[in-house]
Amino acid sequence: MGFAKAQIQKTYIISQTQDGFILVDQHASHERLTYEKLQKAYTEQIKTQLLLIPEVVDLTESEVEALCHHKEEMQKLGFSYDRFGQNAVMVREIPALLKQSDIKALTKDIAEILEETKTAFALKERIKDILASMSCHGSIRAGRELSLNDMNALLREMEQNNFAGECIHGRPTYIELKLKDIEKLFNRS
Ligand SMILES: [Zn+2]
Repeated sequence: MGFAKAQIQKTYIISQTQDGFILVDQHASHERLTYEKLQKAYTEQIKTQLLLIPEVVDLTESEVEALCHHKEEMQKLGFSYDRFGQNAVMVREIPALLKQSDIKALTKDIAEILEETKTAFALKERIKDILASMSCHGSIRAGRELSLNDMNALLREMEQNNFAGECIHGRPTYIELKLKDIEKLFNRS
């Protein structure tokens, strides 16, 4: 994956390789890595992080009900929460991998998925969507400034992951331009 030279538009990483360069989508690639980690952790046991200050998340009543209905399964995904009045839940524990994320937005997104999922059986089918949503919230966003060290750490991690070339939705996470392709673009070959 080469070595990071620059970040552009706070969204893409330019990395120089032996015979060209690579343009990496920082969110898509990190999201994929987070997804693989979460999925593996889910089959074993997700490490959790107790919140020092529980977070009250305002939701619709039916979202609150959906979250309470699937409380046990959500515990397996690393979340602990209680109902907090009619239109809110109090989140006490989240997956450790997501400790940097916006808990309100994350909880809301998951509640929306659960709202459409009435039974435990149906939830099994949606686990992938929930893990994807968790990965999205737990990953470097587009628009975040990264140091060369951050960028190189991401590139090294991508090299260790077989699926790093594709985002969760099947789109590429990076594109590669070889020197000979660049020369062709400039009519030099
Ligand atoms: Zn995303």
